[in-house]
Amino acid sequence: MTYKSKFGFGCMRLPQTDANDPTSIDQNLFNRMVDIYMEKGFNYFDTSYAYHQGTSEIAIRKAVVERYPRESYKICDKMPTWALTSEEDNDKFVNEMLERLGIDYFDVFLVHNVNGPWLKNAKNANTFEYVKKMKENGIARKIGISFHEKADLLKEVLDEYGEIFDVALLELNFLDWEDPSIEAHKCYDLCVEHGLDVYVMEPLKGGVIVNLSDDLKNEFKEFNPDKSIASLAIRFCASLEHVKIVLSGMSNMDNLIDNCNTYENFEVLSTEEREFLENMALKLAENLAVPCSECGYCVDACPEMIPIPEYFNLYNTSKNQPESNIYRLYFDKLADEKVPASECTYCGTCLDYCTQKIDIPEELEKVCEHFEEGFSPYG
Ligand code: SF4
Ligand code: SF4
Repeated sequence: MTYKSKFGFGCMRLPQTDANDPTSIDQNLFNRMVDIYMEKGFNYFDTSYAYHQGTSEIAIRKAVVERYPRESYKICDKMPTWALTSEEDNDKFVNEMLERLGIDYFDVFLVHNVNGPWLKNAKNANTFEYVKKMKENGIARKIGISFHEKADLLKEVLDEYGEIFDVALLELNFLDWEDPSIEAHKCYDLCVEHGLDVYVMEPLKGGVIVNLSDDLKNEFKEFNPDKSIASLAIRFCASLEHVKIVLSGMSNMDNLIDNCNTYENFEVLSTEEREFLENMALKLAENLAVPCSECGYCVDACPEMIPIPEYFNLYNTSKNQPESNIYRLYFDKLADEKVPASECTYCGTCLDYCTQKIDIPEELEKVCEHFEEGFSPYG
């Protein structure tokens, strides 16, 4: 395996024609990005039943499956654990996913986001036995889980099912590596102990690692003016021996070109770079108001339908750029047009689903205080 083969195209944040409509994938731009990606010798696409509200799989069919020979690319898809209510659902979802993608086997098939409540769903629906059979029947070449939780739950899952898995897709990046609320390092070590390949998601923590204050951006620039922050962060992940795939979600052509350059001229992270990133991880953690990766799992769980990650995004931006028009966006785009953050009832339902272990109701309260106290939207 070469470092180049580790570059996976994550299809959760594809280019859109309307920023407010996740189903509005810009198919022409995505097709062009796929052509460049394939032309340069990369071939791995990661999607799920839920991404872009089910249209990510369809966009991959149009851009990849209908335009390239089956053996020239690999596709990973994932079982929607949150929607499993019976054993029959396994078949139902797999058939739907195969149909949306227009393929008859998956190169990799994962049980999606194994957390406390969804692990129960998967056990009740006998999903782990089902995916094992998918591999035996050739419907999936490799099987495993995607995982955002801490090491104690991963140990429990791997002790019970690790033998049947080939891979685990982990949230891993230099910010989360030693973060006690994520435990990426411990999770990586557990996968290695169980003989699993590690695939990486969120190498930029949903953009948190690149959307920095000017001061922090300057520190990166001073350290190496020729390398983007994203390229350093990706090399941190891809330099790890047992990491076989690093997914990058790419919403525009610039992201793609930067990532292609990183992998085409891949350099293993040096000790000096590793130490620099360890130091920057501490500074970033201090600087960040809320470590939300904008994965969106909490939004589906919230009975009030509060656009939680959008509030946290504005909150983080306003801390880094206090002079921006972010206050206006808060009132015009969120509190007025969508559901106000103050509608949180503190029911706590979202807490089980947060991949970053954020105390969402407490942070929403801070968001309200920050934006609403002493500020007039009409001032
Ligand atoms: S605690 Fe607030 S944000 Fe969380 S699910 Fe309940 S209402 Fe929604
Ligand atoms: S609050 Fe948590 S679950 Fe919700 S989008 Fe952010 S990281 Fe994901």
